[in-house]
Amino acid sequence: APAFEVERVRRDFPILQRPVNGRPLVYLDTAASAQKPRAVLDEMTRFMSEDYANIHRGVYALSQRSTALYDAARQTVARFIHAGDAREIVFVRNATEGINLVASSYGRHFLEKGDEVLITHMEHHANIVPWQLLRQEKGIALRVAPITDAGELDMDAFERMLTDRVKFVSVVHVSNSLGTVNPVQEIVRLAHARGIPVLIDGSQAALHMPVDVRDLDADFYVFSGHKVYGPTGIGVVFAKLSHLEAMPPYQGGGLMISFVTFESTEFSPPPQKFEAGTPNIVGAIGLGAAIDYVSSLGLAHIHAHESALLAYGTELLREIPGLRLIGTAREKSSILAFVIDGVDPQEIGAALGRNGVAVRAGHHCTQPLMGRLGIPSTTRASIGLYTTREDIDALARCLREIR
Ligand code: PMP
Repeated sequence: APAFEVERVRRDFPILQRPVNGRPLVYLDTAASAQKPRAVLDEMTRFMSEDYANIHRGVYALSQRSTALYDAARQTVARFIHAGDAREIVFVRNATEGINLVASSYGRHFLEKGDEVLITHMEHHANIVPWQLLRQEKGIALRVAPITDAGELDMDAFERMLTDRVKFVSVVHVSNSLGTVNPVQEIVRLAHARGIPVLIDGSQAALHMPVDVRDLDADFYVFSGHKVYGPTGIGVVFAKLSHLEAMPPYQGGGLMISFVTFESTEFSPPPQKFEAGTPNIVGAIGLGAAIDYVSSLGLAHIHAHESALLAYGTELLREIPGLRLIGTAREKSSILAFVIDGVDPQEIGAALGRNGVAVRAGHHCTQPLMGRLGIPSTTRASIGLYTTREDIDALARCLREIR
């Protein structure tokens, strides 16, 4: 692959060519959602203009083409995360729905009163609330592994908490609030040594680093399409085929059945068993195009580019008096979250916004984590494949002015 040239890459993103309030857009909110390359927009339009029909039911050419492209998108996702079999890829709406699917199907079916689900203190609400719902329904217990002040998982404590009562582990790969990259390989190894399955929330990882679910030996791996430069409304659950075969359906309806009478229903094999109703066909096509785009640049190149920017940004922000970086893990990705003494993070975000710098401020759907850190919220800049040094310079310059 050719070396990564950010200026060339930026030209692939129409939105980056448009001024906002008369200024060039400095987009530092990729952790919330990534901008879309023209390849994604074009392929979705092309598909709807030339190949669109509902899938699976058709006997005519267009529906067969549409079905073939939907299946091809599934294959593309499987290759992207190195799943051994495309039947291990279930399309859902987003990472949130993915975790809900696993909690509702695997959790409801296999977990019993008194069983523990082990998560961490840095989870997104999407990896907390579904387990709380399951707790209400089934009487399971939710246990939380602690983190250090730097925002790293306390691995000794994690290991100690892996008792006989733990029947499921669900952890974030990369923290959206801290940027911490968790040692998921080690987590899986420790859990599997005790026969415990592991779900990894890869929402903030899949866009930044190569992911290999077989190498990780993950039981479940979930992420959202909109954060890997694809459209909204499409997400992915990877699950080992043996789990998908054993799990009951999550929702019932068309496309997930093979035979229905009023007395009983035979379900389709996975992954169709978990895709009730007309799926987000266009979204899946767009996600496939996004993955093709990202893969053409190369995740390793993207990772190198972003790591250099993270180091650069960390240095610049450290020099700003009164600014404190939140999240200083040794293994870190793409997130520059901070607080400034005496200034409300929301005000910082709004002031940056007026200067054309798009960042996010708040609890970032990690309120328990904010509680642990003793702060109500942070301002968060996040890096994507199109981020430049100039973007980081603009952030630092504006922050100095705001102070
Ligand atoms: N987990 C993490 C770590 C996230 O960053 C996000 C998105 N902020 C989610 C889960 C949920 O993603 P979505 O809103 O696309 O379902």
